[in-house]
Amino acid sequence: MKEKLEAIAADGRQALQSAATENDLQQARVRYLGKKGELTTLMKGLGSVSAEERPGLGALLNQLKDQLEEIFQARLAIVRDEEIRLRLERERVDVTLPGRVRFTGSKHPITLVMEEICSIFTALGFGIAEGPEVEKDFYNFEALNFPKDHPARDMQDTFFVSEDVLLRTHTSPVQVRTMLQHAPPVRVIAPGTVYRRDSDITHSPMFHQVEGFLVDRHVTFGDLKGILTAFISQYFGKSIGVRFRPSFFPFTEPSAEVDIQCVICKGSGCRVCKGSGWLEILGSGMIDPEVFKSVNYDPDIYSGFAFGMGIERIAMLKYGVNDLRLFFENDVRFLRQF
Ligand SMILES: [Zn+2]
Repeated sequence: MKEKLEAIAADGRQALQSAATENDLQQARVRYLGKKGELTTLMKGLGSVSAEERPGLGALLNQLKDQLEEIFQARLAIVRDEEIRLRLERERVDVTLPGRVRFTGSKHPITLVMEEICSIFTALGFGIAEGPEVEKDFYNFEALNFPKDHPARDMQDTFFVSEDVLLRTHTSPVQVRTMLQHAPPVRVIAPGTVYRRDSDITHSPMFHQVEGFLVDRHVTFGDLKGILTAFISQYFGKSIGVRFRPSFFPFTEPSAEVDIQCVICKGSGCRVCKGSGWLEILGSGMIDPEVFKSVNYDPDIYSGFAFGMGIERIAMLKYGVNDLRLFFENDVRFLRQF
């Protein structure tokens, strides 16, 4: 019995000491020290041993059990340390690796230009108004002094939805809608999308405009020049040259186109300004009394001016972009630069 005990204890020591993982170690412990383990089974057999031998064997058994338990605990600490070490090795993070850069989105250049223009005019006291892109002929043409069959309608290649409904060709209908709803004085700018049947390197069937107008008593052409010059010097810089050229629009009289000194050659003449040194950036004029009649303003009491500009054109000049289509192709390599 005693030899058998020693032999089992020796096997147990060997099994515990050679266990490489915590799992192996726990299995060895169950095998020798567990409720159905080999030593426990022997202990149960003590009843059949003679009375003289029993105390000695019992003491030896307990001593061996304590010994194995001690080995188990010591080995457990070693195995656990080793497992932690291996895990750290496996999951090691190289903190010196460069991080992965995520691209954050940014505003589209057309939006940037539109917002900057709006903020300059709101600082000058203008409010912002919007209107529908699908518009009635009345607001887009009729009320703006483009009677049916008027040749000026040919200047704007229109997308018609039906005979009387169209995609607005300019943001000027917002002028009519605003004046019909508000009595003077009014000072409003209207940014938005407009549509024309036109598509090439400098024209897109969908593009953006900002319309602005001001109506009050005693408004003169001098006010128009003052406001637009203030806007241009804020947007393009104080040193830039500005000139007003006579022009024609059905809804303004007199009308003027506004040029700025070429931003590329500074006025000496280049390909962009076709050698003239000037670039046209907006159309403007005193609102025609005929327009006032269609919105029930009294032209004998009130006067006002209106102006409009293409956002894409301003953006091309501001950022030196030479192909309008780049704004609509959504190439991230292009858009990222703004
Ligand atoms: Zn030039």
